[in-house]
Amino acid sequence: MTDKKIQNVVIAGGGTAGWMAAAALTKLLGKTISVTLVESDEIPTVGVGEATIPTLHIFHRMLGINEAEVMAATNATFKLGISFENWRDVNKDYVHSFGFLGQDCWACGFHHFWLKGLQKGLVGDIGDYCPEHLASREGKFAVMANQDLNHAYHLDAGLYAKFLRNIAEQHGCQRVEGKIQKVVLNSDNGYIEKLHLANGKTVEGDLYLDCTGFRGLLIEQALHSGYDDWSHYLPCDSAIAVQTKSTERPVPYTRSIARDAGWQWRIPLQSRTGNGLVFCSKYMSDEEAKQTLLDNIDGELLNEPRVIKYKTGARRTHWKKNCIAVGLASGFIEPLESTGIHLFQKAIVRLMQLFPHHGIQQSDVDEYNAQTREEANNIRDFIILHYHLTDRRDTPFWRYCANMDIPESLQHRMKLFKESGRNFKKQDDLFGESSWVQVMLGQGLMPEQYHPIVDMMGDKELEAFLNKIKNGVRKKVDSWPDHNDFIQHYCRAA
Ligand code: FAD
Repeated sequence: MTDKKIQNVVIAGGGTAGWMAAAALTKLLGKTISVTLVESDEIPTVGVGEATIPTLHIFHRMLGINEAEVMAATNATFKLGISFENWRDVNKDYVHSFGFLGQDCWACGFHHFWLKGLQKGLVGDIGDYCPEHLASREGKFAVMANQDLNHAYHLDAGLYAKFLRNIAEQHGCQRVEGKIQKVVLNSDNGYIEKLHLANGKTVEGDLYLDCTGFRGLLIEQALHSGYDDWSHYLPCDSAIAVQTKSTERPVPYTRSIARDAGWQWRIPLQSRTGNGLVFCSKYMSDEEAKQTLLDNIDGELLNEPRVIKYKTGARRTHWKKNCIAVGLASGFIEPLESTGIHLFQKAIVRLMQLFPHHGIQQSDVDEYNAQTREEANNIRDFIILHYHLTDRRDTPFWRYCANMDIPESLQHRMKLFKESGRNFKKQDDLFGESSWVQVMLGQGLMPEQYHPIVDMMGDKELEAFLNKIKNGVRKKVDSWPDHNDFIQHYCRAA
């Protein structure tokens, strides 16, 4: 393709994606490349995206970011999972926690033991066998040697971008203010040559990261990468968001509450709550959505409710010519499992692994695109599962979701679990067995059988095994402090 050395990287856009990329590239490759970020104060960022998943630790470790420091700077709280309310059916709730369930054996997951225990009347909620699950229900939290909980954060997206900007600028990132007006392509090879800004400046680079959000200014408007539309599987196409002053102590989990034509989020930060309603415009108007959201929040409003429109799906090629899309510019699955920031981070790490120091090779581009596609498809299936596997038939939206076609890959996973309780983590699967099992059981899919190896234990032995795990979890969680007290102490020490 080209053996031109990559020395100058230009990042278009300074939302969460742009500043994450800038911080990582300057900190980790800053001695070998120069990084310029162009953004426009005239074009606001999306400004949502406040719930994360535990993989963010990897990103923070890579950049040497101290946990207490980033939490203090972003008004953050801890997150141990998501409470899914009214999803299986109205008034039926469950938790998808970040923890591992019980104790596996070589042949099968812990839930097989739990399933037999259920048949024998020996067990209650599967969450009793998982510290993250129990701690989230009881509002507890701890970070200490050998007892670390698998956790993530709720954070203020605007403050997080500012925090990352500081790191990027300290490590040499040049920020250019200005609205990109024209993307100039080379007439021979179609590569991006330069960006013309409305203020008359031009910015030139060898490699461009498109972080301009949904508009995909470089990857789509200039390079016409194409978009795979997933709205037949994930029909919600709108969100309305508003922030409120906190009225209660923050809980260590995100709330996801199913509504008539979508779902509502509640994300507790230290001093305010992020609220929003994701909805399907075919079944609910913007006005109805606004009313539904305002009827179901408490606390003083801190801003005006804002509607955001989107189309679920992914770019056909995430890396095209000398441009890589990162963030919303590369597609949007939907925020139900808080996977947005994770995907930005994965894109950045993947780029580091395949960085074209000596020129762009088609094999690197193909590998990057294949890995990105596979990962996004697996997450897509996991999200569809929540909508499709429901007993709800009470509104046209839920009837559509229950009856819609789903990908074959997901049909297979559901059938396998139903018939045998089995689930296997695929390569490039973000969500492991514990996550799939919690959601499948939570949404009401009960396996017809457990693994026969469980019968190697007699009933008494099984009971003792299950009780030992449950009592161990209880003892641990009892020894942990209250989540809010822990944050106050932890962030004050930062
Ligand atoms: P944006 O925030 O849109 O930033 C785009 C940037 O490009 C801005 O700086 C803008 O100024 C610049 N720009 C655009 N055009 C030009 C131009 N012509 N010239 C110069 N600059 C330009 N993710 C999670 O991980 N967890 C969540 O809980 C979560 N919730 C979400 C809820 C909703 C409703 C949505 C829509 C997304 C959510 N996400 C979530 C996804 C994601 O985290 C955020 O949307 C993300 O923070 C914003 O991504 P971004 O940086 O790609 O784009």
